[in-house]
Amino acid sequence: MGTRFDIVTIFPSIINAYLGESILKRAVLNGLLDVMAHDLREYTTDRHRSVDDTPYGGGAGMVMKVEPMYNAIRAISSDGQERRRILLSPQGRTYNQALAEELAAEKRRILLVCGRYEGIDERVRESLIDEEISVGDYVITGGELAALVIIDSIARLCPGVLGDDESSKEESFSWGILDYPHYTRPPEFMGRAVPEVLLSGNHAKIAEWRRMQALKRTMANRPDLLKTAALDAADRRMLQELSSQKEIIISEENDGPDKVGRGTV
Ligand code: SAM
Repeated sequence: MGTRFDIVTIFPSIINAYLGESILKRAVLNGLLDVMAHDLREYTTDRHRSVDDTPYGGGAGMVMKVEPMYNAIRAISSDGQERRRILLSPQGRTYNQALAEELAAEKRRILLVCGRYEGIDERVRESLIDEEISVGDYVITGGELAALVIIDSIARLCPGVLGDDESSKEESFSWGILDYPHYTRPPEFMGRAVPEVLLSGNHAKIAEWRRMQALKRTMANRPDLLKTAALDAADRRMLQELSSQKEIIISEENDGPDKVGRGTV
């Protein structure tokens, strides 16, 4: 059995719709992924099934009430299974592949609480939650998308969820750097040809080219990753080669008639 999730949300249909397609649907059907979406309104006690109320102190928007959250989390936990209780929040620890790997190895069930409106009564965070996770430094309308990002990224790491041809081993971040470029047929499209090495059938050369391209991309787009990536001697040689190519390009640009004072790296 892979990772097991409980989601507390006022929109279980959002979660179930996403899980009803493609790779995650297959994972659920094969018993590799167990996700229970719990409708918060089922845990309300008033006639209107209210989950929100106006904020104390005034101000815009509504705040999610503490009692339905308390009732929901207590009822879900009554099966005696241990849970790591996570609140989706832009104020939490930023989600990344390392945290995905940590959660994929989690033995407890993972309970994800989705906020809506202006947020959730602070007493939920104080007394019912173990930690907060953010999917990035921006604000979205509700926690459901964030929960799905987490479930999807963890499911990809569960053995058996991806077929051999969908392996997660060589993806961006999995090996500490970004992925290499991919190509499929046709060999030429509008004057742009697939790099010859990929058509050569020489697997050693292809692996070397891919590693070089992955390092090149990482250097250009996310140089910060190179500080922590596990790099071997061959990688370091490739990086040196890439840096000197960059220096040559920049110094050639500077030798031109319109010198604008750009320096070498
Ligand atoms: N007023 C809140 C604040 O500024 O921190 C934002 C509330 S947001 C409109 C409503 C809900 O969406 C949040 O309670 C949270 O569950 C979810 N959410 C919004 N942005 C998120 C993010 N970056 N990561 C995770 N969850 C997020």
